[in-house]
Formats: sequence, structure tokens, C-alpha cells
Amino acid sequence: MADRDGVIWYDGKLVPWRDATTHVLTHSLHYGLAVFEGVRAYRTDHGTAIFRLEDHTKRLFNSAHIYQMKIPFSREAISEAQIEVVRRNELESCYIRPLVFYGSEKMGVSPRGASVHVAIAAWPWGAYLGEEALKQGIRVKISSYARQHVNVTMPRAKIASTYANSILANAEALDHGYDEAILLDTQGFVAEGSGENLFIVRDGVVYEPDIACALTGITRASIHQIAADLGLRVESRRLTRDDLYIADEAFFTGTAAEVTPIREIDGRQIGAGERGPITTQLQKAFFDAVSGKTPKYHHWLSKV
Ligand code: PMP
Repeated sequence: MADRDGVIWYDGKLVPWRDATTHVLTHSLHYGLAVFEGVRAYRTDHGTAIFRLEDHTKRLFNSAHIYQMKIPFSREAISEAQIEVVRRNELESCYIRPLVFYGSEKMGVSPRGASVHVAIAAWPWGAYLGEEALKQGIRVKISSYARQHVNVTMPRAKIASTYANSILANAEALDHGYDEAILLDTQGFVAEGSGENLFIVRDGVVYEPDIACALTGITRASIHQIAADLGLRVESRRLTRDDLYIADEAFFTGTAAEVTPIREIDGRQIGAGERGPITTQLQKAFFDAVSGKTPKYHHWLSKV
């Protein structure tokens, strides 16, 4: 990733990709506190547009606020910088990664006294779990690792250290021949994927697990809206792992994963073992929305 052409926005300046470096003693590298976002831009008939840019920037600032990190730029500046990065790298469809981290002024758990830095990179990134996954669905394993409890790290914040937990779960799933993991909360109820939220469909109703221990996904919020607009019923409730096993359909949502069908969980086929009809309908409506084909969702798009 480090050896590429292009520019990265780094503390207010566009710097050559290879020069966007930091010192090895940066506090965030040692203690794991950095906040970040994953955002996507899509090609539309009216040029490239960033999907739900303001919502992502707001979540970035909320994450920093929860952890008392002071971002030394305004929200407007960070939103504008994301547009600038896509434009200056001449990208059509891409993934955007804003990252806020502490500098290297000090060691010790407390970051007080360390400077706060912001970097924003963007690059082309196709389907996170593969093109085939979007059509055929993926095989998922319920993790033996629990999602972090609400009083361990706070799930409304998208922080780097949460992903150590995600890496454990994902690695376990891959080691067992699966494509991705689902984590349960510490009480055993369904929380989320390693980098995705999750929905199931049963008897025509769309259910999502209670998100107390999960990230409040922006794709998830979009699916709520899209499903409601399609006249589908969406309910949030506590779900058990066997609720997943007997679902008619299941799918992940996420900026990277978009809408990825799940065809198998822990060796149990889900529904017909393929992308289900409601998943297909929601996935199509989602891709239409992000690519500017649905006028009622144009307010989700920020033109580059
Ligand atoms: N949960 C986790 C742990 C994630 O990393 C992500 C991806 N950001 C999501 C859920 C989905 O969130 P969003 O739809 O906002 O990308």
C-alpha cells in the first residue's frame, strides 16, 4: 500500500503518497487509539460522488469526541479534504480512509500532550469479499471470540483497537475455511461481523440484531431506509445464533462489504443456499442509490 503514486491529505496538505509517513514512536501505534472511517465514492452518470460523506465525517468526529481526541480541523474541512483527495487522485469509484492518530511526543498510556494528526487516503477497492460473493453469497462462522462489551471499548466509536478483536474472529473463520466471522456479544446474542453489520430475513420480515455492542453502520441505516421505502418491515431485536441458522436469508452490510449475501453459517445452509429474493431486491436498490440512479436518494451523494 505504501508504494504508490498519488497524493494523501496529511494535516492539511496534499503530500506525495510515498512521503505520507510517521515516526515509529507514534502513540497510536503503541496503544491502539486511532479513530478512522471507511467511506466509498461511486461513479454516477453525473460524475463521481461520495456516499453519505457528511454522515461518515460526523461519525469520525463522534468517535474522536468519545475518546476525547481533539481533531485540529473543522468537520467542513475534513469533508472537503475527502472530496479533494478523490479529485486530485482522479479516482472514479474508490474507497476513502480518513484516520486520526496521536503523534510521537510521548510514551505512556495517557495521550495527553501528544499532537493529533489527520491523514486521508483514497484508492480503488473493488468488492471487499470478492465480486463472486455479491452474487453467490459467502460462508460465515460464528466466532468463539465475543464482541467487546459496551464497557470495554465503546462501540459507537470506530477506533483502531476494536479491530484487534475483529482480526481474531476473522482469522479464526479463515482458518476454518470460512469467508468471514460473526461475533456474538458477551451475553451470547448476535452483534455483528468483523467489519460489517448483519441482517436476516424471516417470513418476509427483515430483522437486525440489537446493536448495543455493534457499530452503528451507515450502510445499515441506508438499508433501513431503502427497505422501508420498498414497503418491507424492518425490526431490531435480540437475535440468537440459532435465529440465524433458521433464517430464510441473511446478509452483511458495510461500506467495504456493501450488501453481501450470506449463504451458509456454521455448516448450516441459509434458505436456499444462495442470494435470497429480498436480499437481491435490497442489494439492487442499494447499488442504484450509491450510483445515483434513484433521485430520492440523491441527498446521500456529495459530488466530487
Ligand atoms: N461494523 C464494523 C465492526 C465495521 O468495521 C463496519 C465498517 N465500517 C460496519 C459495522 C459497517 O459500518 P458502515 O456501514 O458504516 O461502513
